[in-house]
Amino acid sequence: MGNSQNSKVKTFIIEIKGLVQGVGFRPFIYRIAKSAKLNGYVENRNTGVLIKLNATENKLLEFIENIKKNAPPVSDIESINFIETSSEIFTDFEIKKSKTVSDEVTQISPDIAVCEDCLNDIKNQINRINYPFVNCTNCGPRFTIIKKIPYDRINTTMNVFKMCDDCFKEYTDIFNRRFHAQPIACSNCGPHYTLHYNNKTFENINEVINNVRNLLKNKKIVAIKGYGGFFLACNALDEEAVSRLRKRKKREGKPFAVMFPSIEILEKYAFINEKEKLALQSYRKPIVILKQKKDLPYSVNVGLNTIGAILPYMPFHYLLFENFNIDAIIFTSGNISDEPIVTDNEVALNKLTSIADAILVYNREIYNRVDDSVVRVINNQERIIRRSRGYVPSPLLLDFNVEGILATGAELSNCFCIGKGNQAIFSQHIGDLKNIETYEFYLSTIEKFKELFNFKPIIIVSDMHPDYLSTRYAEESGIKHLKMQHHHAHIVACMAEHKLNENVIGVAFDGTGYGIDNNIWGSEFMICNLREFKRAFHFEYIPAPGGDKVTYEPWRSAVSYLYKYFNQQFLQFNLSFLKNVNPTHLNMIISMIDKRINCPLTCGAGRLFDAVSALINLCTHAKFHAEAPMRLESIINESITEAYSYNIYDNLVSFKNTFYEIIVDLKNNVPSSIISTKFHNTVINIIISIVKILREKYNINKVVLSGGSFQNKYLLEKVESILSSYEFDVYSHKKVPSNDGGIALGQLVFGAVNKNL
Ligand code: ZN
Ligand code: ZN
Ligand code: FE
Repeated sequence: MGNSQNSKVKTFIIEIKGLVQGVGFRPFIYRIAKSAKLNGYVENRNTGVLIKLNATENKLLEFIENIKKNAPPVSDIESINFIETSSEIFTDFEIKKSKTVSDEVTQISPDIAVCEDCLNDIKNQINRINYPFVNCTNCGPRFTIIKKIPYDRINTTMNVFKMCDDCFKEYTDIFNRRFHAQPIACSNCGPHYTLHYNNKTFENINEVINNVRNLLKNKKIVAIKGYGGFFLACNALDEEAVSRLRKRKKREGKPFAVMFPSIEILEKYAFINEKEKLALQSYRKPIVILKQKKDLPYSVNVGLNTIGAILPYMPFHYLLFENFNIDAIIFTSGNISDEPIVTDNEVALNKLTSIADAILVYNREIYNRVDDSVVRVINNQERIIRRSRGYVPSPLLLDFNVEGILATGAELSNCFCIGKGNQAIFSQHIGDLKNIETYEFYLSTIEKFKELFNFKPIIIVSDMHPDYLSTRYAEESGIKHLKMQHHHAHIVACMAEHKLNENVIGVAFDGTGYGIDNNIWGSEFMICNLREFKRAFHFEYIPAPGGDKVTYEPWRSAVSYLYKYFNQQFLQFNLSFLKNVNPTHLNMIISMIDKRINCPLTCGAGRLFDAVSALINLCTHAKFHAEAPMRLESIINESITEAYSYNIYDNLVSFKNTFYEIIVDLKNNVPSSIISTKFHNTVINIIISIVKILREKYNINKVVLSGGSFQNKYLLEKVESILSSYEFDVYSHKKVPSNDGGIALGQLVFGAVNKNL
């Protein structure tokens, strides 16, 4: 019986969800259906890919196995479901035109680095010799050019380019790699570059490449249009060129990303392990933070021991590095100070000329702005620090429905997040909302996401901070609004990433976040679940003289700690960092603390790291966000195992002994690297001992780590491995930033579990 059932030809509908559009999925289905001699059709729906075909049950199962095994490299199948349907007889297999069926949305592909086959084509195909916009179904721009779904050329910024006959032939040939490659182009019909230099323009690609190479060799700065915005390039091995770029970019103190032509050359300058190699070479092509092996000029990474390295990902990058005897070029966002990265040609030609000597544009519009993504491998896992190109808008899958929830994110490193079904769809990295242009970018991106994903917000979740623009946006939306405590959101974001839904011990360390006692929090040990939290321990509060000013003047935090623990006495300690401080300012700060003027209370772990970094005279004034803690991490000597003392009393941690012992070490001329390591070990010991106390008290074994401080490689590696050795289950961020860029995921999930409040 069973056998005759299985050999009967029936009609089936197969539905495939996940990242299956714009990645060569339909032609792949067509090819395997043809070779299995199955008849029917495949089409794109808003909901995914739908296949209807005639097959026996055995053949059907074989076919589905084949799909799972051989799906295109960039696709990501979330689910395959099939049902038998009323009989319909097909005589051939075909690809049907896209159809819109519901509000549910299929995934939009992120941008994909150029593939090997396409790099071959620009050396061999007559209409694509050195053609820098070559792409195929396995590679090329996606998110940056899409205006609405379904993903068809007409709905992208490629719509203004009319395909030539050669391209059309490939586009319609099912056995061609470019079959239905929406951005298909060649030198006869596609976009082209124009170099603007010295009031002249160059359009011939060979001339463009030669000119850009020569400019870079001659210490010049060139703005180069990428997938998601403009980038500024100069010779990374030339201190003069790099420091000029730094000066012209203004207020730009943070390390620059560096593009290397290949892994082999990068290996001369940095240590690369297998995981890092995988990240560097993945189709996402992020910036990867690596440990430096050979010094680059000071202005590249401002003396830190890491390099933000990236490999070429657009055809132009590869062309540029051919026969080019420079090992590395700076590859940093093309923006003016804190503004978002420039995407528009006219804006670039007006604004970026104040920084760049030449501007390289192309005539295809960037619809969605994205920066380069940043990752770091910690404990042999890729961790996202900035989630943008190559990752966005791939969703994270959750165990429950988050439809209609808009999570507005934090203020610094903002990303927002929308809920579609069980998908959390993060926006690209937006930036610091306090900057007016960035806030406009935030508003317009929310509107674009509504359109792109057919998203209608019903619930909006924000931080509790009354002054965050993302909170005000939520308040003014007129939609049902929930507020969530900042550090609870950090922990829930990490829980959501690991699909945890129970009571956990949360450790959230960062610089600042609004607390329910109106103080600034940031060293939180909490017992929490997705819905609520109980604050169990935190660091002692110190005054933050000048409020937000402390983040750029770490010496203020040092003075605040010293004054708290030693009164005026610390002025007799002969501390060298005070030589960097104007005595009038110092007196002013002390009297501000005395009179409680503009001195909000803070317990942020970031302030503690700031204070120690300033106290040992490593960083008294910061030129970029979190510089002081980064410098402290940068000088760690991993062979040091000692630590300082501290006190835990009531629910607080006191650092009086820590500071006292550091000052003694300073007196004894103990090297900074040793002090820094001992200090890190102290923080690690504190985390371990408090988490043990909490396990004892609450009988909870799961520890969740989040907050910007856990971007510190040494801290996270040690805490994770020591907690594991005590048999805790430890959870930390991988797919979502542990900094404020990840908070929106926590807010989204909070919205889902509290939507009936
Ligand atoms: Zn390709
Ligand atoms: Zn063409
Ligand atoms: Fe935070």
